Amino acid sequence: MQVITRFAPSPTGDLHLGGARTALYSWLYAKKMHGKFILRIEDSDAERSTERSVQSILAGLQWLGLTIDDGPYYQSQRLGRYQAVIKQLLATGHAYRCYCSVTRLEHLREQQIAQKIKPRYDGLCRHQQVKSNDNGYVVRFKNPQHGAVLFKDLVRGQLVFNNNELDDVIIARANGLPTYNFTVVVDDYDMAVTHVIRGDDHINNTPRQINIFSALNAPIPQYVHLPMILGADSKRLSKRDGAASVLDYRDAGILPGALLNYLVRLGWSHGDQEIFNMAEMIDYFNLAQINKAPAALNPQKLLWLNQQHLKATDPSVLAEILQWHFAQLAIDVGSGPDIVAVAALQRNRVKNLHDMAVQSAFFYQEPVYHEQLKAQYSTELQCVLQALLENMAELQDWQLTSIMDLLKAVACQYDMPLAKLTQTLRVALTGGNVSPAIDQTMVLLGAKTTVARIKQFMVFCV
Ligand code: GLU
Repeated sequence: MQVITRFAPSPTGDLHLGGARTALYSWLYAKKMHGKFILRIEDSDAERSTERSVQSILAGLQWLGLTIDDGPYYQSQRLGRYQAVIKQLLATGHAYRCYCSVTRLEHLREQQIAQKIKPRYDGLCRHQQVKSNDNGYVVRFKNPQHGAVLFKDLVRGQLVFNNNELDDVIIARANGLPTYNFTVVVDDYDMAVTHVIRGDDHINNTPRQINIFSALNAPIPQYVHLPMILGADSKRLSKRDGAASVLDYRDAGILPGALLNYLVRLGWSHGDQEIFNMAEMIDYFNLAQINKAPAALNPQKLLWLNQQHLKATDPSVLAEILQWHFAQLAIDVGSGPDIVAVAALQRNRVKNLHDMAVQSAFFYQEPVYHEQLKAQYSTELQCVLQALLENMAELQDWQLTSIMDLLKAVACQYDMPLAKLTQTLRVALTGGNVSPAIDQTMVLLGAKTTVARIKQFMVFCV
């Protein structure tokens, strides 16, 4: 049997961390089992769904590298199919038209609350054949009244729901549009989904859905309900807890692989291993090790993982992402050092690629000097820099060792601490106090730019 999983977001907002984790687990399980991962956009609720959300979800999945094997399917394009199944359920006696007015239902609800019983539909239309005109009805599923629904959730274990606890859910609204618990079943059936992996906020829907599967004589998938993700304060996740969309993490310079690594560990473990690359995630992922307890966000851990992934990622891969960040910052990298070399030099020094771009901007942009530098400038510094320029002109090769030897020799000759010389050079070359080692910075900038910037700095300071 081929494993088929799906991610079924409602496009009512961005792809957030919870959704991304659900998508990742479904994707990983499909990959691991050599199965298929389906994307299904649950947009049958036209009022709440937006095209912007659809695009944001697609972009989020694409950025994360969660490739789709089948789809995206759109529920809004499957309305004909839902109508046909509703007809079928009506014909087989598994559903009925309910003409109860909103007023009656409200009244019923108030009564039930007053009697301290759980509000639910009393089944009036289930029992009477209404020969009304065909307007103004909803279609309800005829939930079995006796017995229980038993299913084994692959995280939670065996679960039992008594049928007398379950309502006759509305499967088609008065406007004819189908509802969630119904469309999800038709889709999971039609798409031959074998494993429904989703957040455990859906756990109470599952017995209702299983009853609908049974009414359709459809095979019932396996259910995997993932524990909640909590905020860093271990309370319910709120927007305060970090970026709402996974794309905000992209913008903040997080690597997709690092975010996936972070997400995979939010609710799953493999011994005490913390760092996983994609191949390892696919290889080790299993449903048995999904935690039952909710997981709390830990932004520090994400940053730490990002650093580990920066160190482990090939500079040529980093360079492509770095280029994107340069573009976001409107930094033109047309002239200047090879971006792969910059990424290789900076990847051990920064926590994220946004910072890497900011801290590497000087490679491609003229430094801007602060006025205060003038006060710190001295005749002594001027002599040293002058000597340095003269010696540089004679330097045979522009390599780490020869550059360092030259700096040492000049510092020694003028009795200046080497650190003072390198710090002055750093300011001259970058306009700031932060850069990789000065010899490496100079090699990457190249002799011509280095000389030009030192001269520019000297002109500025006098
Ligand atoms: N569309 C539902 C949601 O976004 C998920 C449905 C499911 O996974 O069964 O919460």
